[in-house]
Amino acid sequence: MDSQPTLFGSVPSVAGALFSEDDRYRLFARKVWPVLAGTRAALEKCYCPDNGRPGVEPVLLMGVLVLQFLERLPDRQALEMVKYHLGWKLALNLELEQKAFHPTVLCYFRQRLVENEIAGTAFRAVLDALQEEGLVAKRTRQRLDSTHVIGLVARLSTLDCIRETLRLALEELGETLPEKERPDFWPLLWERYVENKLDYKSAEAVLRSKQKQAGEDICLLLKWLDPLPVPVREGRQVALLRKVFEENYTLDESGQCEPVKVRGSGVIQTPHEPQAQYCVKGQGKARQSWVGYKVQVAESIGEEGSGNFLTSIVTQEATGSDDAGLPAALHKQKGMGLEAPSELYVNGAYISAEALARAEKENRELLGPAQPSAHKENVFGAEGFDVKVEQRRAFCPAGKESTQCSRLVEKQSGKVSYRFEWSWQCHGCQWREKCVGTNQRHRTLVVGQYHTLLQKRRREQNTPLFVERMKIRNGIEGTQSELVRAHGLRRARYRGKAKVDLQNQFIGAACNIKRWLRWLARQIKGKAPENSPPRGCGGLELAFCG
Ligand code: SF4
Repeated sequence: MDSQPTLFGSVPSVAGALFSEDDRYRLFARKVWPVLAGTRAALEKCYCPDNGRPGVEPVLLMGVLVLQFLERLPDRQALEMVKYHLGWKLALNLELEQKAFHPTVLCYFRQRLVENEIAGTAFRAVLDALQEEGLVAKRTRQRLDSTHVIGLVARLSTLDCIRETLRLALEELGETLPEKERPDFWPLLWERYVENKLDYKSAEAVLRSKQKQAGEDICLLLKWLDPLPVPVREGRQVALLRKVFEENYTLDESGQCEPVKVRGSGVIQTPHEPQAQYCVKGQGKARQSWVGYKVQVAESIGEEGSGNFLTSIVTQEATGSDDAGLPAALHKQKGMGLEAPSELYVNGAYISAEALARAEKENRELLGPAQPSAHKENVFGAEGFDVKVEQRRAFCPAGKESTQCSRLVEKQSGKVSYRFEWSWQCHGCQWREKCVGTNQRHRTLVVGQYHTLLQKRRREQNTPLFVERMKIRNGIEGTQSELVRAHGLRRARYRGKAKVDLQNQFIGAACNIKRWLRWLARQIKGKAPENSPPRGCGGLELAFCG
């Protein structure tokens, strides 16, 4: 691709005066475009060099995608910007007469990025450039939090999901099976599930009987499919139908199917997006439920004046835990050449005894409040006891030492815990009511092998110093709000986890670029004379401003 446009066809030669030194498009062309151009070698592997007509330059496509997420535009509008917007032409190093390409080229390009597992190329390239500029240190202080991403799906009831999956499977089979090879019950199923829609206003009993009926019909169809060749019985939609059946029905010994009473977590919510999961978080007014994904966002905490930049974005299943998200985020950063953060600020969902032990072992500080121990109301929890796991000793709220300590190992996970017991001390103790359960003779306490770390954190998290230190974590809430409001993180534009991850990576790259350009503009303004005219922030710039 030409790195220099011709003299009279270039934006700077014709309309250079429109773009000041600190203009974001000029800065994009000067600082970001060379970074994107540097990804060309990685992008080349998405293409076959000697096959078919020449494609659109991949670096240009990468640039369009980045600008698209910067300004939160759909494909078609992004291509109009390529065609008509001088700022975009300047940013993308295009000549004035550059024609746009068809919007579907962006779809194919994204598909190539996903298939070649290089969806994070732009994010990584920008992060590398920020490191070179000295804006992100190899080992930094960071904050981490997760938020939800709503999948590109309609919420379906269980019965709707089952019927829709059956409809898609019948349509798939209808394309592969000639009419004479179809079973006798085919017209009935076709009429019931393809030609008819469910009346969701039907009475509860009717809906229940339809769910049972659907299960029996699926059973009948799957049994009939069993002896058929693999391509027929293992088609994409039939495989999905099999899974939906397993998740929603049980078979008794006589082969009769019954709808399950409670569906497990992570079950398919819609056949159109099987990877999107249903999840609930919070309670009361703060309760949120969604079908989709979850994303972990980590951000560096820069020193005064250097700004904060995203250091990793990890897409998880909606039901994925924060406990698993933390190591995944650190692993991703390691793959991008960053060291584990010296201090990592998180909320209580990330703090567990194991996480604290891991952090200590890896020589990093994990800062966040520990959750209270699980215990009944008005009963002393683990917090009321002084436990010294290493010495196998524990002291109860009455100051009595435990009489016995047993080491327990969970067979499957290998998890080690310790059970402390108090025996004769509990008889006649003034705290007995608040300490010993009605069915117990004396008090027992089970704690994990790293309980000492958890106990230490529970004690220090109430000190003014810790509370003051934790204020720095709040910035990640603002960053998430910025990602949601300015870049559209909340709603998936695409289907499938891999593509939702691609979206998140581009949003991360766009956010870092925006912050970088702002920092550069501030540097330039700092050098500018005091009477230079102020520049406003309007129209499209709003997207840049977040
Ligand atoms: S009931 Fe037993 S364990 Fe509880 S405070 Fe009294 S002596 Fe300690």
